[in-house]
Amino acid sequence: MSQTVVTRFAPSPTGFLHIGGARTALFNWLYARGRGGRFLLRIEDTDRARSTPEATQAILDGMAWLGLQHDGEVISQNARAERHRAVALELLDKGEAYKCFSTQDEIEAFRETARAAGRSTLFQSPWRDADPASHPDAPHVIRIKAPRDGATVIRDEVQGDVTIRNDQLDDMVLLRSDGSPVYMLAVAVDDHDMGVTHVIRGDDHLNNAARQMLIYQAMGWPLPAYAHIPLIHGPDGKKLSKRHGALGVDEYQKMGYPAAGMRNYLARLGWSHGDDEFFTDEQALAWFDLSGIGKSPARFDFKKLENLCGRHIAATPDAALLHELHGFLAAIGRPPLSDAKSALMEQAMPCLKERAKTFVELLEKAEFVLTDRPISPDEKAAAQLDDVSRRILKELTPHLQNATWARDELEAVAMQFAESMDMKFGKLAGPLRAALAGRSVTPSVFDMMIVLGREETVARLTDAACESG
Ligand code: GLU
Repeated sequence: MSQTVVTRFAPSPTGFLHIGGARTALFNWLYARGRGGRFLLRIEDTDRARSTPEATQAILDGMAWLGLQHDGEVISQNARAERHRAVALELLDKGEAYKCFSTQDEIEAFRETARAAGRSTLFQSPWRDADPASHPDAPHVIRIKAPRDGATVIRDEVQGDVTIRNDQLDDMVLLRSDGSPVYMLAVAVDDHDMGVTHVIRGDDHLNNAARQMLIYQAMGWPLPAYAHIPLIHGPDGKKLSKRHGALGVDEYQKMGYPAAGMRNYLARLGWSHGDDEFFTDEQALAWFDLSGIGKSPARFDFKKLENLCGRHIAATPDAALLHELHGFLAAIGRPPLSDAKSALMEQAMPCLKERAKTFVELLEKAEFVLTDRPISPDEKAAAQLDDVSRRILKELTPHLQNATWARDELEAVAMQFAESMDMKFGKLAGPLRAALAGRSVTPSVFDMMIVLGREETVARLTDAACESG
């Protein structure tokens, strides 16, 4: 079968793009993109009271940050209400749906009687087979004529065959009495019209699939493939809560996780490819398959996320990392870097990205680049700059000033100097960090010297040596 794969992400814009939604989007993106297919975005905004433009924007921003570019226009489900209505009327014409004039009271009375008699309380409308000539001129809904016997089998790519007896499915309403289409109809019609071949979504929608299939079947449309993914749980196996990380993806961006690490981690959340933990987008695109999706809920684990993010930061080219850092600064509301600082940052990147798991950590290490003279050391660094160490710095400075500005040379000069003073180099490192960065945790002092250059290094050392304590 050489049909082009079409997937979609269909969030309801009623809040932020949470981590579960982001994973669903990613799975759909990976599946389509890895097969030369199309990945569509549909905003399910039919609930007018709860849908907000801000939530739609948050979804678009979150997807942009994660690099999940969709194809074509964003589809608004609400804007397609006329089409949904038309399909209901078509089903009516075909005899696959009917007008039901039962009132709420009558439906309640039916249920009461059924309950008392120990029968199923699913409503069975007396209008299902009524002669249209007997129809009153009164408000009515349009119901689908669901099969009464047999079973509906969802051939799910993750869950296997899920069988639902048809006597468990009622003649669901397609159009309400005010003519508005119901959500279930909208989803089926949109998926069909958008040419969706694979519906990949959370398994909280598994039951809906049976109902949506009834609409497909009544219209004579070919069914899409279904893949219902188990939801994400917290590390304790319970439903994911805020404390566990059920946050908007924008929060993850603000915590400084790189998008590539996030994609890698989210891909592993419920899907696996052998023992592979760390992989590139190219590998994920080549490997991703529905058969690798697990049947039990994945557990969210910040430690794993951090670990993968650290590895992605280390593996990302410096210029790309700098670019993403600019985005991070904007996301946390920090002013942009000047061109000069950007250039220095890129130069410093090789030593900054070592062992940084987030952009927050990377920025901490970058303090020596971001700060300007005169440097005000933090408390720990200030403690390193006592009279003795300032004197030592003063003596060391001319040696460095005359050295060739290369890492090996600087290291050799510092070692020699330490030896001549009969001290361990380690003793020198603290004051040097304090003088160069104003911090006690920094990249290696020699890396900092190389990035800062001779003039700035000597100036910072001189400042520190001369400060009266
Ligand atoms: N709008 C639904 C949700 O946000 C998804 C519906 C679907 O994927 O079919 O949960």
